[in-house]
Amino acid sequence: MSDVLILGGGLAGLACRAALPAHRSATVLEAADEVGGLLRVHARGDYVFDSVPHVIFFRSRRLLEALRGLLPGGLHSFPRTNSIWQGGRRIPYPYQFNARALPDATRDECLAGFRDNPFAGTGSDGAATFREWLRGEFGPGFFQHFFQPYNEKLYGVPLDELEAAPLRWTIPSENGRAVLAGEGDPAGAPELFYPAGREGIALIPKVLAELGRGDVLTGAEAVRVDAASRTVTVANGREFRYRNLVSSLPLPELLKMLEGVPDEVRELGSTLAAVPITVVQVGARTTGAALPDIWTYFPDADVPFYRMTRLERISADLAPAGGTSILLECAGTVAPDRESVLAWLHAQGVVPREAVEHYDAWHVPYAYVLFLRGYRRTLERIRRALSERGILTTGRYGGWMYADIEMAMKSGLMAARRLDPSGAPTATARIFAA
Ligand SMILES: Cc1cc2nc3c(=O)[nH]c(=O)nc-3n(C[C@H](O)[C@H](O)[C@H](O)COP(=O)(O)OP(=O)(O)OC[C@H]3O[C@@H](n4cnc5c(N)ncnc54)[C@H](O)[C@@H]3O)c2cc1C
Repeated sequence: MSDVLILGGGLAGLACRAALPAHRSATVLEAADEVGGLLRVHARGDYVFDSVPHVIFFRSRRLLEALRGLLPGGLHSFPRTNSIWQGGRRIPYPYQFNARALPDATRDECLAGFRDNPFAGTGSDGAATFREWLRGEFGPGFFQHFFQPYNEKLYGVPLDELEAAPLRWTIPSENGRAVLAGEGDPAGAPELFYPAGREGIALIPKVLAELGRGDVLTGAEAVRVDAASRTVTVANGREFRYRNLVSSLPLPELLKMLEGVPDEVRELGSTLAAVPITVVQVGARTTGAALPDIWTYFPDADVPFYRMTRLERISADLAPAGGTSILLECAGTVAPDRESVLAWLHAQGVVPREAVEHYDAWHVPYAYVLFLRGYRRTLERIRRALSERGILTTGRYGGWMYADIEMAMKSGLMAARRLDPSGAPTATARIFAA
């Protein structure tokens, strides 16, 4: 019998385990053959690819320093560089603070729509849709030229089907003077961080796994959760009894495998949806001069990816000297045609076709939670039903949120705290709860 059984050995599950007090024992069940979840890397000869592109940008300096102290090679820092590629033109990021880089007619339309915004204030209440909020905040020009095409390409649904509240923090706003000046982000380029060495971002879950106690079982895919008998069954048939269950699995997956609950609870999961993505990896021995930023965003519909990441700009350890490790993120499960992608990179001067040494595509079934209208009520009902049965959910997909690394770790810590609300926080929890 496990005191605490944790489903999923990504950041949230591992942070929860690391923060449990000494008198609690935990077992982690992880489906993959290594821990880390999204924070894993694929080493391919001289090239190293994050499973999805990651940089570290913590709000808490203390948490950042705690992490730096745990990583054997520390963290190196670099400024954010990113831009938008639209209609063959490079526009600095964020679009809404760089109107001067737009073609004249587009610039005038965006700025006039911002100045005399007929939708001003319409998206300010907590129940606003993403479309209402974006138009209310930036006006019809910016909406039509950038926010709508980019976000519909990424999310794959009309923006009036999404709630604005959980997405607002991801888009810098609230600086009208800077929008009208159109000369760049008033906040400047933030400092970003990444672990040194070829293990890259995957080092973070590794060090986190060392902080906790109790078994971490990899290759252990949970396939059935019986809430009545408090038993989890894994794919090879082995059963685990538990007192408390913490799940960082995507909520719809947990609900599908849940038994011992009324059908209406299980069926709530079918109303939740997330965007899958396909991540194309390109490794090339040499690189052209075009699109050199860490990230380039592509709102245009005729480009199959919505974002390109140059990993060698994040860490020189991820590509051979003079070469590049590129990630191209495409919404959906269909990989773009390889030859068309390579021809595009060649034609744009990003990578010469003959320099390409590695090409692969990798699917991420849950990438971005879709905050469909009404999801909050559904989430409340699911959480209540699960918590009545001793099941806590955590993490980006268990908590059903737009979480970055810092938020995923904190949500794991909070799950540990909820299991032991009166106990003194452990040393680990104290460091990371900063
Ligand atoms: C495209 C993209 C880019 C991102 N970029 C950044 C960034 O630059 N900076 C940043 O701070 N954050 C970024 N993030 C967010 C960050 O990756 C997540 O917040 C974090 O990794 C979530 O950790 P988690 O533990 O909640 O989930 P996960 O990493 O998904 O962990 C869940 C674990 O559960 C396991 N699992 C699934 N099913 C089962 C099962 N049936 N049985 C057992 N185990 C199972 C999975 O294998 C996985 O290990 C990005 C996310 C995406 C999608």
